[in-house]
Amino acid sequence: MGEVFFTSCGTESNNMALNGAVRDWGVRHIITSKLEHHCVLHSSQWLGKTTDVQVHYLPVLPNGHLDMQHLADLLKQLQTEPKLVSLMHANNEIGNLLNLDLVSQLCQQYNAYFHTDTVQTIGYYPIDVQKTHIDLLSGSGHKFHGPKGVGFIYINNNHHISPLLLGGSQERNMRAGTENVHNIVGLGKAIELAYQTLDQTQAHITQLKTHLIKHLQTEIPDVLFNGDALNAQQSHYKIVNAAFAHQSESASLLLLNLDIAGICTSGGSACSSGVDVGSHVLEAIDPTNERANIRFSFSKYNTLEEVDITIDKLKQILRV
Ligand code: PLP
Repeated sequence: MGEVFFTSCGTESNNMALNGAVRDWGVRHIITSKLEHHCVLHSSQWLGKTTDVQVHYLPVLPNGHLDMQHLADLLKQLQTEPKLVSLMHANNEIGNLLNLDLVSQLCQQYNAYFHTDTVQTIGYYPIDVQKTHIDLLSGSGHKFHGPKGVGFIYINNNHHISPLLLGGSQERNMRAGTENVHNIVGLGKAIELAYQTLDQTQAHITQLKTHLIKHLQTEIPDVLFNGDALNAQQSHYKIVNAAFAHQSESASLLLLNLDIAGICTSGGSACSSGVDVGSHVLEAIDPTNERANIRFSFSKYNTLEEVDITIDKLKQILRV
């Protein structure tokens, strides 16, 4: 518990992690990917521009996974350099899961720090930092039904980073400013509940995802999936990113029509739900993807009936 510090959100935690590793640990290489959330992507780009840090992006495979052999080769090549690997546990747009154990082992083998953005997975998967060595890990309260506006960062006890915000001595000198006590309490309770009911939540949401995929495949012609949605072991159970044939409807009209029907989906990350602003993730996987790409995500409060309504609505909009 002495290794967890509360922040205002996942974005702040990720900014703190990357900036801290460069400033305090002397990191000169950040190995990351173009699929990261903008808070990681923009932080590493900024560090690449304003310091002597070199940013390396891992190649993305057609199924949205990262090339792990390339990671191993790069780590070996940079063996004697101070480096940070920053990769998200689950991609928020396509759901692909990273093999945390594998990346952690590689980081240890080649002496790299490991930061992982677990905003999409904490509260949904067991993550044990006693078993899997991770130096920095970030999370956000509202993703597991805690309050909005609170996040946290885990910093392995072996290392220290200095605070991003300077001022008072709150959070054991790690984050200045009066603590948002009610939000922190809410986050604590939410994570406790999330892990108490993990199995039921996983079973319920998996059923919803399987149902959606099955009905998309059987009732709507020419639907593909972005990422590795059909591989249950390597895809988050709460995310499906479907690629509809473009000629039928543009993504923005599809989103708008779903929105009007009271069905909240997004074209990219949830931050852009209701509008199609394009997706840097889908662009990085396949720049020629011209389909109408829609991201569906579920919570434990969704029902099979809502999935059926969504399918019916899609059929109506797409006139099939
Ligand atoms: N990282 C990932 C993977 C996310 O999905 C999000 C938000 O959707 C964030 C970071 C940012 O979290 P927050 O909205 O708490 O700043």
